[in-house]
Amino acid sequence: MRPRRVASALFLAVAMPIAAVAAPSAAPAAPGPARAHVHHAMHVTLDPTRGQLEVTDTLTVPASLVRGGTADFLLHGALDMLDASPAAQRVPLRSGSRDDATRFFGINASDADLDTALTRWRVTLPPGGGRVVLRYGGHFDFGLSDEREQYTRGFRQTIGIVSKEGVYLAGDGFWYPQLNRALIGARVSVSMPEGWQVIAPGNGRARDTDGQARWNVEGGLDELTLVGGPLLEYREKAGAIDALVYLRTKDDALAAKYLEATARNLEMYRGLIGTYPYEKFALVENFWETGYGMPSFTLLGPQIIRFPFILTSSYPHEILHNWWGNGVFVDYASGNWCEGLTAYLADHLYKEQQSQGAEYRRDTLKKYRDFVKEGRDFPLTEFRSRHSAATEAVGYGKALMTFHMARRQVGDEAYVRGLQRFYREQRNKRATFDDLARAQGTRLFTVKTTGLNQHGTVIGHFVRKILVAKRGHSVEDRINY
Ligand SMILES: [Zn+2]
Repeated sequence: MRPRRVASALFLAVAMPIAAVAAPSAAPAAPGPARAHVHHAMHVTLDPTRGQLEVTDTLTVPASLVRGGTADFLLHGALDMLDASPAAQRVPLRSGSRDDATRFFGINASDADLDTALTRWRVTLPPGGGRVVLRYGGHFDFGLSDEREQYTRGFRQTIGIVSKEGVYLAGDGFWYPQLNRALIGARVSVSMPEGWQVIAPGNGRARDTDGQARWNVEGGLDELTLVGGPLLEYREKAGAIDALVYLRTKDDALAAKYLEATARNLEMYRGLIGTYPYEKFALVENFWETGYGMPSFTLLGPQIIRFPFILTSSYPHEILHNWWGNGVFVDYASGNWCEGLTAYLADHLYKEQQSQGAEYRRDTLKKYRDFVKEGRDFPLTEFRSRHSAATEAVGYGKALMTFHMARRQVGDEAYVRGLQRFYREQRNKRATFDDLARAQGTRLFTVKTTGLNQHGTVIGHFVRKILVAKRGHSVEDRINY
C-alpha cells in the first residue's frame, strides 16, 4: 500500500463519520457583524401573469455609508421609484470623486451593460445613519441569455425573471437597492400566487399558513436571491435542520434520494469543518438548467437533478458552498479561493472515497496543462469566477491541486484542523487566500514561487510528471500526486 493511500484513508476517517449517530445540530444564531452592514426588511409582491414586481424595502443604513449627509444606492432602471421616505433623488450613475458605481462593476457584466441598465439614487440621512423606506416596482421579466455553445457548462443567465414558470431574482440584477458590495442582512416576505413556493437564503418558510413566504438572514449575505414558482414541497428532519426538496412535478423517489443525500452531506461536512450555518437546506428545481449554490439552498435544472451522478458530484459541491462561499465569503479582489476548495472537498473527496482520487487529479492536471501550453494560465489571485474552460482549469483545477499540495505538506490531521480554524475565524466575513493559508499554517502560500501570485509554477512538476507518464508508464506507477 502506497503512503498516499494511507493518507487518504486517514483523511476520509476524519471526513466521513457517516454512520455517526450524532444528528446535525442547527447553528445557534450567528453573532454576525454588529450592524455595520445594510439591513433590508422587505415585502415583495410578485405578479407573474404580468411579469411585475413590487417591493417595499425598509433599509437600515449604517453611519459608515453616510457621507456628506447623504447615502447613494443603485437599482435596476426597469424599476420605478413609487415612494421614498426620506425623498430619493436620481443622480448621475458616475459622479467623479464619489464614483461608488465603479465598485459594482466587474464580475458578471461589462460596464457598458450596467451603465445603461442601472439608476443611482441619493437620500439625505443624519451622520449616524438611519432608515429609508422605499416602494418601487415595474416589469421585471428579462428572459434568458442565448445558449453558450462553446462552453456547455456555462449556464444561460438572466437579469431577472418574474413569469408564470417561476421567479428568479439575484443580486446582479439589482432588483433591490445596493449601497456597496458589503454583506447585508435581510428579512423578506413575499406575496405570490396560489400554489407557489418562494425560497430565499436563511431561515423561514417557502409558504406560510397565510400564503406568504417568509425568510430571515441576520448573519450576513453576499446577495439576496429569491427563486420559486409552482413547486411541490418535500420535507424531512435532518437532526435539527430541515431538509427540503422543491420539485416542479411529483416525484417521491427523487425527493427521497435528495432528502437522504442532504442529511448525509450536512453531517459529513459538519464533522469535517464545523456547524452548518442555517436551519434549512433546500434543493430547488429550476425551470432552466443551472447548478447554483446559494446560502442554504441550491438551484439545479430539471435535467441536472435527474442525472444519478449528481448526488455524488454537484450536489455535495453545492451543499459544501454553505461553508465555503456562503459561510465564509470570498474577498473577490484578492482572488476566489472558494471554488477550488469546494471542488477539492466535494468533487475530489467523493472520487477519493471511491479510490479514484489519483485519476481525478490526473484529469484535472491534463486540462490545466492544455491551457498552460496555450499560454492561458494566470495567477490564482486573479480568478474571480468561471466563465470559460480556461478559467475553470485555473480557478478550480490549479486551485484544487494547490490545496492538495498543502494537505500533503502538513498532513491530514493538521490540514483538517486548519480548515476548521479557517471556518471558525472567518465565518460571516470575506476571506482571502492568505487568511486560508494562515489558518492552515502552510508554507505553500507564503513562498513566492507558488501558483498563487504567479503563473503556474507550483504545479509545474505535476504537469511534467504527467508528460513522463504518457511515455508508456501507467500513471499509478509513476506518479505520486
Ligand atoms: Zn462551486
